[in-house]
Amino acid sequence: MLDIDAFWNDCKSLLSTKIQTISYEVWIEKLEPVCFVNGSLILSTLSAASKKTIEQRYLDIISDIVKSLNPAIRSVELILESQRDHYLKKQDSFIEDEGFIVKDKPFSSAQNGSAFLEKYTFDYFVQGKGNEFALAAAKAVAENPGAKYNPLFIYSAVGLGKTHLLHAIGNSLKKNSPRTKVLYVTSESFINELIDVIRRSSEDKDLNARFREKYRSVDMLMIDDIQFLAGKEGTQEAFFHTFNDLYQNNKQIVLTADCSPKDLQKLEERLRTRFSWGLTVDISYPDMETRIAILKSKAAQEKFNLSNEVATFIAENSTSNIRDMEGLLNKIIFFSSLTGHPVTSRELAKEALTDFIEEKKESFDAADVISTTCKYFNISSAEIVGKKKTKNIVYPRMIAIYLITEMLDMPLVSIGEIFGGRDHTTIIHARNKISEDVKTDTRTKIIVSDLKNMILNR
Ligand code: ADP
Ligand code: MG
Repeated sequence: MLDIDAFWNDCKSLLSTKIQTISYEVWIEKLEPVCFVNGSLILSTLSAASKKTIEQRYLDIISDIVKSLNPAIRSVELILESQRDHYLKKQDSFIEDEGFIVKDKPFSSAQNGSAFLEKYTFDYFVQGKGNEFALAAAKAVAENPGAKYNPLFIYSAVGLGKTHLLHAIGNSLKKNSPRTKVLYVTSESFINELIDVIRRSSEDKDLNARFREKYRSVDMLMIDDIQFLAGKEGTQEAFFHTFNDLYQNNKQIVLTADCSPKDLQKLEERLRTRFSWGLTVDISYPDMETRIAILKSKAAQEKFNLSNEVATFIAENSTSNIRDMEGLLNKIIFFSSLTGHPVTSRELAKEALTDFIEEKKESFDAADVISTTCKYFNISSAEIVGKKKTKNIVYPRMIAIYLITEMLDMPLVSIGEIFGGRDHTTIIHARNKISEDVKTDTRTKIIVSDLKNMILNR
């Protein structure tokens, strides 16, 4: 096997001779080798801004050097640190002299269970209002799998710690009870595996049996983001049987989703019912104090000295999701390392964040979508975000919600806040309703398309 760290070190020594020292230190030194995927060397960087700069200025020279040192490597790809585990799951082996050995997916077996991210432990999970029940339940399950809370179902909007908790359960079991076989999969990879099994089972008769064996031989099965199973009947069927087997054998099942079991549209009733047999807990957006504590914990992990002032500034500017808040912190850390001046004051933090704000910003925002929708239906904006339940208001309201989820990259919880503090599940409901209607009802289809045009051409 090629030692990826040693290999990257060789690349770096060459790069340091080709790139100006200061640029090398700022841009190249901090790149981390991740793995090989489809013949590409994957490197990770901390922020989207640095990723972009490196791609523009240095990717060519990095690729040249990497390929000159090992011609079997086809290309170099930059990813964000946050995407690391996604890529690790897809990695292929690189055997020196032979090049890439692309693993014969699917699955070797669950023999040794899954790998868990080191930084996602219970120690690094900050307890606070909004997540304390989920944390306590996750700990209970890690200490005593298959006992009280089975299945454990954790739901929240995106970026609030579900995946972190699943990894924490895994890490804790690995440490305290290494014999317990724990399998973690995203529902995406579960689905892909299953599709592959179905596709290839005619040529390989054992495949079906191995798939069943893999999932049914574990002591704990964690499936992340189960909402993606919605609408996929074949997968639900397979999962249903796996679930029953595990459950009957008192094996622990932990699931996460972006909404509660009862709001999982298009999921078979029998699955939804089963999901609620155990314990269902939600995570809500943490309060200011917890957010600051999280920032401090993340900064400490990065060995970055985060002042109270800057922590408060970041926490105030984060409105809906911890992952995005971490992104802001990373930008500050990056800015400090770039300029060599630690960012300690609110003013500097502001400067750091404006310079690094991603240009992804749309030319319109939720307010524009709402005002355009109001104009179209001739109602007031107070009505559309208000409590009225009459049909002539509810329909435009759902349309506006649908458009915002479609056209803007905005967390459901924030959309709920705009619409008079509605729960994110209400937002999901509206979105799903209209997205169905668009397919089946011509009138809705035309209205949606009209409104999109109006918003885009304001
Ligand atoms: P989800 O799976 O719900 O989308 P993640 O588990 O990926 O969210 O969390 C997003 C980021 O926020 C991760 O980096 C995670 O470590 C961090 N995070 C969320 N909640 C907490 C917490 N209470 N303490 C520390 N970090 C947290
Ligand atoms: Mg997640």
